[in-house]
Amino acid sequence: MNLDTIVFNDITVGRMLFWVAVVVAIYMVPKMVPKLYKLIFGKKKVNLQHTVYFACSNCGWEGHISKFGTRCPKCDASAAISGETD
Ligand SMILES: [Zn+2]
Repeated sequence: MNLDTIVFNDITVGRMLFWVAVVVAIYMVPKMVPKLYKLIFGKKKVNLQHTVYFACSNCGWEGHISKFGTRCPKCDASAAISGETD
């Protein structure tokens, strides 16, 4: 299919695809923004659903840390998780 094919009057396929892309972009952006915001800034806040209680055997720090990061936020020692929150 040639992008210069005229669909009706002077509207070409290329121009139509451009406007379809614009409309899709306008429709998608508000949905994407919160996702992007979460992706960029969301990791700073620790979601308690994905954390485990952790007591550092090295420095004695206690608190909730990410399930996936088992390092002490205070002394950076990797230590065993003491127990699950749930
Ligand atoms: Zn520690």
